[in-house]
Amino acid sequence: MAHALLISDLHLPLTASPLRDRFAQFLAGPARAASSLYILGDLFEVWIGDDAGLAEYGIERACLRALTRAGVPVYFQHGNRDFLVGAEFAAATGVEVLSDPCTVELGGVRTLLSHGDRWCTDDAAYQRWRRFSRNGLVQGVYRALPRGWRERFAGTVRARSDAVKQYKPADIMDVNDGAIRAAFRAHGVTRMIHGHTHRPGTHDYDLDGRACRRHVIADWRPDRCEALRADGAGVQRLPIG
Ligand code: MN
Repeated sequence: MAHALLISDLHLPLTASPLRDRFAQFLAGPARAASSLYILGDLFEVWIGDDAGLAEYGIERACLRALTRAGVPVYFQHGNRDFLVGAEFAAATGVEVLSDPCTVELGGVRTLLSHGDRWCTDDAAYQRWRRFSRNGLVQGVYRALPRGWRERFAGTVRARSDAVKQYKPADIMDVNDGAIRAAFRAHGVTRMIHGHTHRPGTHDYDLDGRACRRHVIADWRPDRCEALRADGAGVQRLPIG
């Protein structure tokens, strides 16, 4: 049956790792049988610009290119780690970068797709950083910096983010219920799929008598790699590897 596959939050590191091997196998295997592949952000743990990223992630670039050449459309949304993925990446891989959020039809159901971090509105400090880092002017200045400076700055941001996460209350790093309900209403959809929170699950909502469902994609770990499969029968979790 024609089906789409959706993945997110692989957080592929710059160094060799079993996850990178698993992703390459996934692109050469199950992804070939899909009618489309959606990557909803944080595919890469580090992306300081297309110049550096395309060299550092040469294997992934080649595997994505092979998949799109084989005729499988691949779509990508930015995560909070790889929001600098840009036009050169798209040209080199054949992957289409989607806006966030965006609505697509999956198995006959209009579905809202997002990385998901935009709905973590309880974390005010993160939302401030998000607005700053997604600003076009800020990104223009950053992209113009020498690679060594960009690497150092990105390293500092990652280290701070990891340190801050340790004392943040866990619930502020999840999506906000009101933000989710507002998004369902604003986009007029009954289904939403996102990642980011690393809290895989399925959540049902009743919005003015409309049954709505939110699917959270799992992050990838050496012992748990997963895709969502969407077709006319609905959405299922598909273990990878
Ligand atoms: Mn994320």
